[in-house]
Amino acid sequence: MQSTEFDAIVVGSGISGGWAAKELTERGLRVLLLERGKNVEHVKDYPNATKGTWEYPHRGGRTQQMEQDYPVLKRDYPLNEKNLDWWANETENPYTEVKRFDWYRGYQVGGRSLLWGRQSYRLSDFDFTANQRDGIAIDWPIRYAELAPWYDHVERFAGIAGSREGLAQLPDGEFQPAMPLNCAEEKVAERIAKGFGGRRRIIPGRTANLTQALPGRTACQYRNACWLGCPHGAYFSTQSSTLPAAVATGRLTLKVHAIVSEVLYDKDRKRATGVRVIDAATKATTDYTARLVFLCASTLNSTWLLMRSATDVWPGGLGSSSGELGHNLMDHHFRCGARGVIEGMEDSYVYGRRPTGFYIPRYRNLFGDRRGYLRGFGYQGSANRRGWERAVAELGIGASFKTAMTQPGEWSIGATGFGEMLPNHANRIALDPNKVDAWGMPVLSIDCATGENERLMRVDMMNDMAEMLTAAGVREVETFDNGYWPAMGIHEMGTARMGRDPKTSVLNARNQVWDAPNVFVTDGSCMTSAACQNPSLTYMALTARAAEHAVESLNRREL
Ligand SMILES: Cc1cc2nc3c(=O)[nH]c(=O)nc-3n(C[C@H](O)[C@H](O)[C@H](O)COP(=O)(O)OP(=O)(O)OC[C@H]3O[C@@H](n4cnc5c(N)ncnc54)[C@H](O)[C@@H]3O)c2cc1C
Ligand code: SF4
Repeated sequence: MQSTEFDAIVVGSGISGGWAAKELTERGLRVLLLERGKNVEHVKDYPNATKGTWEYPHRGGRTQQMEQDYPVLKRDYPLNEKNLDWWANETENPYTEVKRFDWYRGYQVGGRSLLWGRQSYRLSDFDFTANQRDGIAIDWPIRYAELAPWYDHVERFAGIAGSREGLAQLPDGEFQPAMPLNCAEEKVAERIAKGFGGRRRIIPGRTANLTQALPGRTACQYRNACWLGCPHGAYFSTQSSTLPAAVATGRLTLKVHAIVSEVLYDKDRKRATGVRVIDAATKATTDYTARLVFLCASTLNSTWLLMRSATDVWPGGLGSSSGELGHNLMDHHFRCGARGVIEGMEDSYVYGRRPTGFYIPRYRNLFGDRRGYLRGFGYQGSANRRGWERAVAELGIGASFKTAMTQPGEWSIGATGFGEMLPNHANRIALDPNKVDAWGMPVLSIDCATGENERLMRVDMMNDMAEMLTAAGVREVETFDNGYWPAMGIHEMGTARMGRDPKTSVLNARNQVWDAPNVFVTDGSCMTSAACQNPSLTYMALTARAAEHAVESLNRREL
């Protein structure tokens, strides 16, 4: 019979859980990694990785049946037949939207590490001090200097391609060579740098794609098909990176179809003793014990688990004594910017594909700039020559049409802002007393909306981009705001924030639940503010840092 006793239990095998499993096993612990979904084995389970669009029954698109089965996913680009198998089943896993909330989830080994866009940026001290400076929510309990060595650590292992820019608001890291800007982006970048005195800059997107091989992983082949799984292991995922490292220690046990339903709590010792697991297929329950529990089930799911735990002590769940568990939900708002056409480069072309674009680091409300809103935004975009798709609308015919289609189209350039959303106590989740999932457990009820600060910021997100493109000589510049609802950014954060005081936060400075110090929450639930940078690199760094602290505390017999 398989053992039910371990040194540590990690819940969830996505970006955060993969890191927890790697760091804890490498420090000598016997770890049980629990994953609610199916196994996805590296390479073997990437059946579509090398398929052409024409090889799919619906050419990679979506069907009416898919739209019926995925009422949330269909709201934006993620729904397609190419990687449908890697999105959570929405019939089995419903939730309640008090207000529209586009929750895009991946329930399988690797979680959303298989699907993510890989943009990887550090937070800076402007971000870690922002709440304190603005008198919003609570202060982060850590500063950049404390996290910097952990960013170094995770960047070296994950492999982040990027350029060193020397920007205080977007610290440089331990980068592999950047994936360079293309010729059109370079030209626009030069003009923007000149036009705005270097304060606004286009830089290569920092991405978790290898430009140099790492052990067991090949450098990127520039296929730009990462969301189908990479047979070369060239982008960071649990499968390509952290899981093989954890397995190599010989101390990892991975259990799939294992839905953790609560954290078991000993109220006398004020410690977790383990977790309860429901077998997804048989619904049988098993208790597993361990000295450490790492909750890495993703933002909202880790908080859901806390809310279901130790309710005999705290009706609101483990970590609820501050009254903040479930509150301060955040995301990054986007789909708002500008685009235009670059002229005079018709003789230039770009060869191959590139799994990243350009980035414009935040410049608003920094270095003396003051706007009518707090915080700021960065931009993500790219310049491309339009392909044959440009003819679809016109439905042309004849020889001249065919000849035109053998030539590339005009150069276009565009970018959307990614804006910081403020932490707001009113943005919250709770257990819905009236709705259950396929296993009979109450689902989350989610009540979250953007506010006036985000609305004001979006005006700048549109107009600033148009201003920069116009200054760079781009023609036919047009702004766009395609609308945004929380979680569309797929950067959910908060609901179990870190802080300095158990009265106002759920977790301490080391991601430990104040009321149960052997329970660590290291996914996005822990975020005290959102910054505007893509957040997953920060979860990796916080997880690795927490794991070191956990093992040291165990060794000192403090846990
Ligand atoms: C299309 C897309 C593009 C993105 N682009 C970027 C980007 O460019 N940059 C960036 O920083 N971020 C990006 N993200 C977000 C990024 O994927 C997430 O921030 C990251 O995956 C979160 O890591 P996690 O470990 O917390 O959660 P996940 O990766 O979601 O993993 C959570 C795991 O926990 C499991 N789980 C949940 N509940 C339970 C339970 N009760 N019991 C057992 N297991 C459970 C799930 O099945 C899942 O495997 C993107 C996401 C998507 C989908
Ligand atoms: S673009 Fe690079 S990382 Fe992505 S699938 Fe292709 S080879 Fe792999």
